[in-house]
Amino acid sequence: MQGGFQDTRYIFFAKLSGQETKAMKTKSPHKTHSDTTKRIRNLSSSLGASDIFLRRDGDFSSLRPEGIMTLLRQGKIDQKSALLLLGVAAISAEEEAKKHKEISTIDELTQIHNRRAFIDFLSKELAKLRVQHLELKKLLDKPLSLSMMMVDIDFFKKVNDTYGHLAGDTVLRDVARIIKKEMRDNDRVFRYGGEEFAVLMTDTGTESALIGAERLRAKVERHSFPVDIHGKKKIKLTISIGIAHVDGPKLVANKVTDMMIPRLIGHADEALYKAKRNGRNMVLAWGGDKKLKN
Ligand code: GH3
Ligand code: MG
Ligand code: MG
Repeated sequence: MQGGFQDTRYIFFAKLSGQETKAMKTKSPHKTHSDTTKRIRNLSSSLGASDIFLRRDGDFSSLRPEGIMTLLRQGKIDQKSALLLLGVAAISAEEEAKKHKEISTIDELTQIHNRRAFIDFLSKELAKLRVQHLELKKLLDKPLSLSMMMVDIDFFKKVNDTYGHLAGDTVLRDVARIIKKEMRDNDRVFRYGGEEFAVLMTDTGTESALIGAERLRAKVERHSFPVDIHGKKKIKLTISIGIAHVDGPKLVANKVTDMMIPRLIGHADEALYKAKRNGRNMVLAWGGDKKLKN
């Protein structure tokens, strides 16, 4: 074992082989609480390693299995160390992938979940609802159901055209924040596209969804949105909302649950565009022409 390495890998090796190196003496252990760190600690104790020294950021992404095997072949590390390092490499790769997946489902501008997350979540919720309905059928007086809202800002293009895209971006962030605040804790809010937001309400029928949507519409109507850097110039805005609904029996009748995704979004869209055609600043539910305005 060579001295002077500041790399975590060599700190591991030294400790496991029972040798002291300069690196160990010069680098103090940092306690971190990330998942990666915790998992590595568990792994090391299950292998009987006495202690473990970690880099503060817990970044082991530079560990590659090929490199570890080369060190083993060259006799620079023993088998136990190689095993631990391979485990560390696998854990780091897994945690990195998790982090990456998390980032790829967040919308950068508004910091809420994006369309990809919406489809993923909706697919899981529909499958869950189908199973729940099949299992609880006899016990339920009302079928379990799920509603969704498609929210679209009225005449949003005018905001960009009049005040610039940065002002438009600020308004989008504000609308996202208002929707999140106004919806119940169980409701999930997503940025579906440009100035469109989707809200999923589990265990919610059309009537309750209409009430929630109307509360949101009124809240946005009352709000004043800042459109300059100092927040002095404020404008008024409105939104239109389309609501669609699906219940357990419908899901059971439809053998392929994922077929319900385009159908549900299509219904919410139809209701939304009807609300637009009928004058905007309006909530409409698909089907029964249920309407709420002002
Ligand atoms: P309507 O009432 O019919 O919905 O009219 P609208 O002007 O809101 O709809 P339209 O589809 O004509 O325009 C949407 C605009 O949203 C156009 C696009 O430039 C803007 N937009 C989409 N994404 C962003 C964004 O991330 N930032 C900004 N500033 N604008 C965006
Ligand atoms: Mg739109
Ligand atoms: Mg719009």
